[in-house]
Amino acid sequence: MLNFERVKIQFEKPEDRKKSFLLEPVKEYTDEEGVAEASRCLGCNICTQACPASLDIGGYIKSTAVGDPAETVRIVFENLPFPAIIGRVCTHFCEDICVLYDTGGPIAIRHLKRFAADKFDDYGKILSLPKRNFVDKKIAVIGAGPSGLALAYYLSIQGLKVTVYEALPQLGGFMLVGIPRYRLPQEVLDKEIGFIISQGVEVHTNTRVGKDIAFNEIMNSYDAVYMSIGNHMPRMTGTPGSNAKNIYHATEFLRRVALGEKIDVGKSVVVIGGGFTANDSSRTSLRLGADKVYIMYRRREVDRPGYPSMNADEEMEETVEEGVEYMWEVTPFEYASENGKVTGVKYWHNEMVIEGGGRAKPVPIKDKVEFLQCDTIIEATGQESDFSFMGDEYLRKLRLTPQGQVIVDRNGMTSIPKLFSGGDSTNISRDLISAVRDADTAVLGILEYLNLMDRISDDKWLPVLDRWKKYSPTAGKKMG
Ligand SMILES: Cc1cc2nc3c(=O)[nH]c(=O)nc-3n(C[C@H](O)[C@H](O)[C@H](O)COP(=O)(O)OP(=O)(O)OC[C@H]3O[C@@H](n4cnc5c(N)ncnc54)[C@H](O)[C@@H]3O)c2cc1C
Ligand code: SF4
Repeated sequence: MLNFERVKIQFEKPEDRKKSFLLEPVKEYTDEEGVAEASRCLGCNICTQACPASLDIGGYIKSTAVGDPAETVRIVFENLPFPAIIGRVCTHFCEDICVLYDTGGPIAIRHLKRFAADKFDDYGKILSLPKRNFVDKKIAVIGAGPSGLALAYYLSIQGLKVTVYEALPQLGGFMLVGIPRYRLPQEVLDKEIGFIISQGVEVHTNTRVGKDIAFNEIMNSYDAVYMSIGNHMPRMTGTPGSNAKNIYHATEFLRRVALGEKIDVGKSVVVIGGGFTANDSSRTSLRLGADKVYIMYRRREVDRPGYPSMNADEEMEETVEEGVEYMWEVTPFEYASENGKVTGVKYWHNEMVIEGGGRAKPVPIKDKVEFLQCDTIIEATGQESDFSFMGDEYLRKLRLTPQGQVIVDRNGMTSIPKLFSGGDSTNISRDLISAVRDADTAVLGILEYLNLMDRISDDKWLPVLDRWKKYSPTAGKKMG
């Protein structure tokens, strides 16, 4: 008999996983479960409209259902060279619009991608990449996060010479120094980044453009440049008392832990913020030995970043299961310290005030002061891009949105000729799959800009943009 219910994914027990960076909270489907879950898919590809990278979701769920995971990986690679990474951490908005959402639950698209990708150690054996016609064009990539690496992959396999400059000692960007290892294991990063680099990409780590090599020199030495620098400049709150020891910005905290430092967080940690970075900081604190971890957010639960979505619900559920306590509608206004080390947070409760038709605003009720003892404070209060490495002359020419994102044309090119840009510094979605989508756009944009479309090795291996339009009843139709 047909079963319409989503096949449940299993989890490690919270008490086991919350003390380990090595134990992934989410387990993997067994062969039987994976095929059963994939077999529920109708193949309508409605979900493709919600995928920033326009993956052929219906296509690869079907190949999974018929027991052909190699074909699944091949289809995913058309637009995305990170199936096992995205199969673990994608924001998976595709599942939010799956037509089966109310009929047994959406297809577990993210889990199924991981299910297929984890079956292969060496993608080279199943992809049969094109025989390359080498092209004498050189491309520089600044920043080795998912966006820069994806671009490096697609242009390298077409025979272009790609060189990546990365400030940190290792590759991966926020995949490595943001997302913690319990959600994204090192061996998964090594497998997928290693495969990209093995396509002949030249890599310079520990090389910050603007310090170790001038931006101007890069612009003069390459035929096109892709800027994928992410947003790594912390936005701190400046709360009085912030200069005490054991107060971190989340990105600094997570980066140091990811690069191997064992930070002593003490027994009690307060995380300020309400988004995914706050969840990751709180769960990392548990794994570093904290007993009590609180997340303080100034708005309501329904106002938190990323909500409403399945992803936001799943992340919060996993965080709560591990014992983290959320404190909604509070405003920390002073950090207390003793002998230079933080001892707690003074805060007010807020009331949410709706003015006009806008978003409800948190307004502190200042007549009652509360105090929460803690040994560490982590501010997960956002970060921005640092373009200062370009130097004043280029900076003056770079057009940004009022919010500080790089403005690009439909080919991914900035207001500076031959400089392309993508990822967190450029899109407002700020997730992995959007960073890869920007790279896909710039791959085609760079090939067009350099007039290489008729010299590429194999157009079967070019990213397919806007596949979703094929499945949208309204795309391309005139309105009114
Ligand atoms: C804690 C945290 C958790 C996250 N969780 C998720 C998640 O679960 N799912 C999801 O989809 N997204 C998640 N994200 C967001 C996701 O990681 C980013 O959207 C994505 O990594 C952006 O890719 P990118 O290539 O634009 O930039 P990044 O990944 O940020 O990479 C940019 C790289 O550029 C380098 N760089 C910067 N300036 C220079 C310079 N001057 N010279 C040389 N190199 C430079 C940086 O060192 C960095 O390595 C998370 C982010 C954080 C911080
Ligand atoms: S919307 Fe759901 S049923 Fe349709 S192709 Fe996507 S996953 Fe399959």
